[in-house]
Amino acid sequence: MTTLLQASQLCAGYGRLQIIRDISVRVPERQLTVVVGPNGAGKTTLMRALVGIIPISGGSVTLAGTQVNSLGVSRRVANGLVLVPEGRHLFAQMTVEENLELGGYLLKQSERRALLDQVLALFPRLAERRKQLAGTMSGGEQQMVAVGRALMGKPKCMLLDEPSLGLAPKMVTELFRILRQICDAGTGVLLVEQNVRQALSVCDHAYILEQGQVVADGSGPELLQGERVRRSYLGL
Ligand code: ATP
Repeated sequence: MTTLLQASQLCAGYGRLQIIRDISVRVPERQLTVVVGPNGAGKTTLMRALVGIIPISGGSVTLAGTQVNSLGVSRRVANGLVLVPEGRHLFAQMTVEENLELGGYLLKQSERRALLDQVLALFPRLAERRKQLAGTMSGGEQQMVAVGRALMGKPKCMLLDEPSLGLAPKMVTELFRILRQICDAGTGVLLVEQNVRQALSVCDHAYILEQGQVVADGSGPELLQGERVRRSYLGL
């Protein structure tokens, strides 16, 4: 199985404050991979370190076999590593279509149009509302625009930081269904989630992050049946 993204022994933090320690995670092709953990565990910090928003103090990040440690954020994006951050960050006064097109700004126009059609086919709701201002879309729809915009960059691997936050349960199910399709089509997906039960139910492999370290990993069903998850996350 091709590994699209690999973090090995990653250490990072803010200034002298080390938040994540010796984290190793792997995102294989066609395997929906998730990171779950409580508030403050370091999930967002891990995402930031992977895409280069914050520097790492140890370890390495490899994208499709190439080490990217020394590349800045924009070079990593150009190489196919994108982050859909928590909170979406859309251009509210631009239409859905314009927001999506911005994600493909590096592509030639003909390629961008073709990819836009593919993305709209994946998100029928966005296709219906392509001319609507992004700021007037519902929370779930805006999240889909953010994911669609990231796809317009033709990523090798997409990282998503809590995309289900604040969404109605039906929207969360729809979003996870689409992420599965994206993953099956060959784009790597690493998903950070607080929604532990649902994330473990849909993923292929999960890592549990606590206090900046991976404390367990395994398949979704394995972890759902394990003592740690049942006690600490499912209240059983
Ligand atoms: P949540 O689920 O609540 O979003 P998280 O697992 O994503 O949490 P992080 O946001 O990575 O956790 O935060 C991990 C720790 O790093 C926290 O103690 C937080 O206070 C600290 N932290 C986050 N950002 C900064 C920053 N810019 N400067 C200093 N400390 C920070």
